[in-house]
Amino acid sequence: MKTWDIQISRFSDAWHPAPSPLVLDWGGLCSLMSSAPVVHLRDPSDKRPLPLWSPAIYKAGAKRGLANVQGVSAVVLDFDDGTPIATVHEVWASWPHIIHTSWSHTPWVPKFRLVVPLESPRPAEEWPRIWHWANSRTPSDPACKDASRAYFLPAIREEGWDFEALVWDEPSRFLDLRGGELPETPEEAKRRLIANRPRPRLPASKERHAKSDILKTDENARRDAVERTGAKVSADGARAINATCPKCSRASVYWYFSPGSMAGCSCKHRNSCGWSGWIDQLEGMG
Ligand SMILES: [Zn+2]
Repeated sequence: MKTWDIQISRFSDAWHPAPSPLVLDWGGLCSLMSSAPVVHLRDPSDKRPLPLWSPAIYKAGAKRGLANVQGVSAVVLDFDDGTPIATVHEVWASWPHIIHTSWSHTPWVPKFRLVVPLESPRPAEEWPRIWHWANSRTPSDPACKDASRAYFLPAIREEGWDFEALVWDEPSRFLDLRGGELPETPEEAKRRLIANRPRPRLPASKERHAKSDILKTDENARRDAVERTGAKVSADGARAINATCPKCSRASVYWYFSPGSMAGCSCKHRNSCGWSGWIDQLEGMG
């Protein structure tokens, strides 16, 4: 852990969206995250005057916001549902990490934050998968899902307020998510299923339209269709008969070669079937 450093963003308080970039080594990150100065706020329930930080890296001059995040340098998860610190620590023990209690923490209602710095920052587009993967290891507050999320730096409201910090640097390698194939998020899975849903076959190609128009109007085309549909010519030579009906499957569909009387075709079993349609619908059925 000699040459590794991490870039984070700092914010003077919750009202100022202009990030100040800060590069820290592991020791610097640990001291920032594991010591909590006393800050006397006029209203301790309103922590907005406290300084914040974010693992989001911004392009120069950009303001805080998801659209401006270039990369993310650490996995950060918040816990406020009673999960014990030891449980979270154990799950993440393969990589260096820091856990510290947060402003509203009390010994009775533990609230704390896990910070797992990355070997190298990952692009913002990968963040949803990274968060989902991390959160599946230790379910946490989903409010921190956003790559542009900023966090209050450790602070306590009065001398002697309970503050706990755990620095874990036994593993020699930081969490490295380069080139790792993380599982897709539930949102991605849903989008994929929708995109891959089988669609009804489209009969509406241009050729098909053109052919079906000819079959409605051209007497020769209507004669030529006899062979392709497996039909027969009637004794008087005026009609095609005995084509297989798409509905009742009997050899009972007929059409007139002269399109004047009826442009389409029909099943002769009017009562028991009643199918009628277009000649091109019979192709491939004979
Ligand atoms: Zn029929």
